[in-house]
Amino acid sequence: MWIVDEAIGQLKKSGAKITSQRVGILKLLENRRDHPSAEQIYREMQKVFPTISFATIYSTAQLLEKAGLIQIITIDDKRVFFDPNPEVHGHFRCNRCERLFDFSVNVDMVRQITAGIPHNVSGIQLYLYGLCTECSGTEKSKIQQA
Ligand SMILES: [Zn+2]
Ligand SMILES: [Zn+2]
Repeated sequence: MWIVDEAIGQLKKSGAKITSQRVGILKLLENRRDHPSAEQIYREMQKVFPTISFATIYSTAQLLEKAGLIQIITIDDKRVFFDPNPEVHGHFRCNRCERLFDFSVNVDMVRQITAGIPHNVSGIQLYLYGLCTECSGTEKSKIQQA
């Protein structure tokens, strides 16, 4: 996690220009534990910057991702989510309530996967789908066999 001042420094280092709209998006994402959708950030930004476009939201998110500040989560084929936590972790999406949950990913497991790949791996996304404990009514929901 980062605070806005650190994020601005990191963004500058990555060569991006600092604009008030970019700082505005950083302020919305700072200290956030949820995974707001691009549309949600767009609506929240419109309250402060009424003329901002959706394209600006998305291009800024891409800059932030490149600077290592956020992850863009494409677990859903209907919308993208922004995750202010850039550390490697997995995401679980409930097929019924459509909520996103974080889960931790074993670093050794990641190393094992990447060791078997001849390519230069620069990022990882791990997406799991199923029913959350609330929707399945059980404490431990069975992972659906493909
Ligand atoms: Zn659910
Ligand atoms: Zn997450």
